[in-house]
Amino acid sequence: MIFSIPEEEQLLLKERVRTSRLIGRDENLVLHGGGNTSVKLRIVNLAGKSIPSLFVKSSGSDLSNIEMKDFTALKADDMQIAREIEKMSDLEMVAFLKGCMLDHEQSSPSVEVFLHAFIRSRFVDHSHADYVVAITNTNLTDEEITKIFSGRVLVIPYVSPGFQLAKFFLKAIDSVDLSKYEGVILRNHGLVTWGDTAEESYDKHLRIVKDAETYVKKSWNGINLQKIEEEKVDQFIDFLPKLRGMLSRKNRKIITWDHSPEAVGYSVLEEAKKFRTLGPATPDMLIRTKKNYLYAEGIGEIENEIDAFVRSYESDFKKFIGERYPMHDPYPSIIVIKGYGLVTAASSKKEADIIRDEAIHSFRVSIAAGSVGDNRFISEKECYEMEYWPLQEAKLRKTAKKELEGYIGLVTGAASGIGKTTYVRLAEEGVLAIGTDIDEKIFEVAKSIGDYAYGLRFDISVEDSVKSAFREIVEKFGGIDVIFNNAGYLHPSKLEDITLEDLKKHINVNAIGTFIVTKEAFKVMKEQNIGGSFIFNVTKNVTNPGEGMASYGTSKAFAAQLSKYVALEGGKYGIRSNVINPDKIFRESKIWEDGVLENRAKSKGISIEEYKRGNLLHIEVLPEHVANVVVSLIKENIFGATTGTMIPIDGGIK
Ligand code: ZN
Repeated sequence: MIFSIPEEEQLLLKERVRTSRLIGRDENLVLHGGGNTSVKLRIVNLAGKSIPSLFVKSSGSDLSNIEMKDFTALKADDMQIAREIEKMSDLEMVAFLKGCMLDHEQSSPSVEVFLHAFIRSRFVDHSHADYVVAITNTNLTDEEITKIFSGRVLVIPYVSPGFQLAKFFLKAIDSVDLSKYEGVILRNHGLVTWGDTAEESYDKHLRIVKDAETYVKKSWNGINLQKIEEEKVDQFIDFLPKLRGMLSRKNRKIITWDHSPEAVGYSVLEEAKKFRTLGPATPDMLIRTKKNYLYAEGIGEIENEIDAFVRSYESDFKKFIGERYPMHDPYPSIIVIKGYGLVTAASSKKEADIIRDEAIHSFRVSIAAGSVGDNRFISEKECYEMEYWPLQEAKLRKTAKKELEGYIGLVTGAASGIGKTTYVRLAEEGVLAIGTDIDEKIFEVAKSIGDYAYGLRFDISVEDSVKSAFREIVEKFGGIDVIFNNAGYLHPSKLEDITLEDLKKHINVNAIGTFIVTKEAFKVMKEQNIGGSFIFNVTKNVTNPGEGMASYGTSKAFAAQLSKYVALEGGKYGIRSNVINPDKIFRESKIWEDGVLENRAKSKGISIEEYKRGNLLHIEVLPEHVANVVVSLIKENIFGATTGTMIPIDGGIK
């Protein structure tokens, strides 16, 4: 840090953190990174000089778990220069803010920072409170809204984000005696409050929101809850892969299906159809939700509705944005289906869940607004301007999407060895990676990978378990694109020592288990109709048998042959199927534990190191080699024309 914060000022920053988190943890005030807070402090620079500064939430941080370091420090006096500036483009504004920052190692401040700079009080809080926007997203006049709050708030009309909002806000607060007010309501946007202490600003915030709630609840008390009919659950799970396929024609999507009583309750309301073109609760949501959602009276209608939605999005895009930016994915992010609840779709699970939360809050706000007045949101043009906001577009271009984002891939035997390494790699590539294993360690592994990983424990040779696992996957994420058939059982025995019991165990896992997983996944992929990829981890024993491996090699030969049938019958649906033959992968491999490796080397009269590198390339073959081949096999631009084949990963057999 190139400045220090005196101890007494640090206490104020701690207070700032505390009430910021209180705001961030109330979903009726802000959602997922929304809202922002600030505090004005004096810091000491390297020359020992005390400087007034503004600490404001950095962009990209989340109030619910914000820390002291997440507040970006700006030179307060430099920020005041903005009062004299008439106009700044978004890019100029970003450059201006960079110039005001005290430490360039920090993230940029939230672009709403000017609201915080122009209010002179020490603490400022800004939220997008549901009950407040419910009152402003109506035809009520500013005066009528002011009256609801007994004149304690200043109401200003909607202005799109950026410096014009800052200037408009400045003019509005400069034209009144601000000390007479407790807060400013920005129509179709949210609430700003301030105070000399964190407590004071927070209390005012809660009071105004409480008044808004009391007012709204006079005419409305929440969406009537309705439980989904039981048979509809099964019906919809059967339909989900098809739906995912329809929504993934341009980019693969992860689906979140919400059939909570509130989502179902909303879906059966008359307003659910009426509000489909209204827009979300606040403009910042438009980037994810789009202005319109898709509404369908039943499952049968959805396909036509999706086509109509895409056509209308494309024509609106042409009309409002034209050549300025590349078009976003034109498919709906939100679908409301009467009696079934709500479906959201995005390129990652996290995004799909955020959109779900934004949708539910928007439903509440729209219904609430409709009960206190006539619904009004910002214009269609403003909606598109917001969805294609230049700063957001610049960010999109900078942050490259992970190549396999939106894919859903399953790895069997993922708790250790090659399976685990591949599981981790898939998640790194953006695949929603589902690791399965018979070992409960799989949950620990999934947790250690993070957001992109999901763990399931089942025995691949038990048909019912596999069926219910696929049902769970479809219900949670919508479908499946990739299967890495990796789980296997190996117990070497000389031919004459093989017991039937042990042979059956090999066949059960390596042949039948692999078949069951393949069959269930194939059905889902066929329904989706967007292709898919199977990768079978077989063994060099199939092409080049090793002594003592009869049970293993013959059972794996079943899997190798099965792959050819998957390629044959899956080709017309774009489903590819290939075999990989890794050999002598020692690292993290159970097969070579307990002296097996040492014995093998010894029996050949060579060192362990020589044994490991006993291939044409004289290299040790690593689990990473296998994982990278699997990742490449998924990629359509690399192996999109390859199916029904076998790839050795063995350094070249001597
Ligand atoms: Zn805001």
